[in-house]
Amino acid sequence: ITIAVPKETANGEKRVALVPSVLKQFTKLGVDVRMQRGAGEAAGFPDDLYEGVSWADDQTALYNEADVVLRVQPPSVEEAGKLPEKSLLLGFLTPHEGDSRIRNLNKRSVSSFALELVPRITRAQGIDALSSQANIAGYKCALLASYLSPKLFPMLTTAAGTVRPAKVVIIGAGVAGLQAIATAKRLGAIVEAYDVRSATREQVESLGGKFIDTGVSAEGEGGYARELTEDEKARQAEILAQHIAQADAVITTASIPGRPAPKIIDQATVERMKAGAVIVDMAAETGGNCALTEAGKDVTHHGVTIAGPKNIPSMAATHASEMYARNLVNLLGLIIKDGEIHLDWDDQVVADSCLTHDGETRHAPTRERME
Ligand code: NAD
Repeated sequence: ITIAVPKETANGEKRVALVPSVLKQFTKLGVDVRMQRGAGEAAGFPDDLYEGVSWADDQTALYNEADVVLRVQPPSVEEAGKLPEKSLLLGFLTPHEGDSRIRNLNKRSVSSFALELVPRITRAQGIDALSSQANIAGYKCALLASYLSPKLFPMLTTAAGTVRPAKVVIIGAGVAGLQAIATAKRLGAIVEAYDVRSATREQVESLGGKFIDTGVSAEGEGGYARELTEDEKARQAEILAQHIAQADAVITTASIPGRPAPKIIDQATVERMKAGAVIVDMAAETGGNCALTEAGKDVTHHGVTIAGPKNIPSMAATHASEMYARNLVNLLGLIIKDGEIHLDWDDQVVADSCLTHDGETRHAPTRERME
């Protein structure tokens, strides 16, 4: 079995699907590894760090001898149509969109496994790339907020006077939000946080944050949030707005799987904020939690800076790649036994994460959407 790792092609993507420290685990699986030259460079892993790997000069040469392709971002539509027939593809594959790509995967009978579809069960925690990357994104967003703020986050007592700690509000206390809370706390800020799932209260408090109580709960299935009713939204919005108005920095991480990001901060709320305040909108790529967010830009409104960073995990490409590569090798461990590919459809992790196989879309919601 030959595992192939291309250089990522998406604009600005610095991560790579394989890092030198996990190569040993691939050897244990009894597979050969082949990489495209320069694949790890942007993540801080030059070719010479990858021992025992064979190299291809370009993607075409790489795919000539590939049984399994490991990617970070989904392949382009064209690339999907050039993958080796009946090969395996593992990566983020955005099953909610990109129908032409999915059709091309089926034309080539590619067995594709989307990390977005890995079930969030205890046994699959080591494969949960949404979590590993969200953790990194939460950390970076807290740093971005402190970097963009004209204020300091910690309290300082100096001969030149005392600086009061910044007040940071974090909305959405999932994996990313909790890491943003922890990071802002480490920087010395006073942190308040809010999530529609009331179960997060305890987690927020255990990190030293204060939970904002709006009296609205939106516990949904499988630990995810459900959509709120109009009434609930208005009540939530007013109480949140009062806290946001007092904040020096707001970090928003709210999302609902497969849906546009919930709009939580409208223009009027931004206009109630203090001059110099900062919003870092982690949901920028899925439409933004703030009405004024522009993905990939920092905009200013009423003296408030609103940052809409894109592909945040790629900003910490070294560690993001390391964690991601471990997630992938753990998934491969369920698929490759004694150097052979064996797809065990009785294994929930394998079955649930499979997007396409044998010319058909196996993920039911995607199949139904495309019909
Ligand atoms: P996510 O990225 O889909 O959403 C981020 C957060 O936004 C969630 O906490 C969600 O409740 C919140 N949110 C949604 N709408 C909101 C709104 N209108 N206002 C405020 N907040 C809103 O979620 P995630 O971080 O990937 O995961 C969420 C949870 O899933 C985790 O915290 C955890 O409890 C669970 N999980 C379980 C496992 C497992 O293996 N058991 C693994 C990962 C996550």
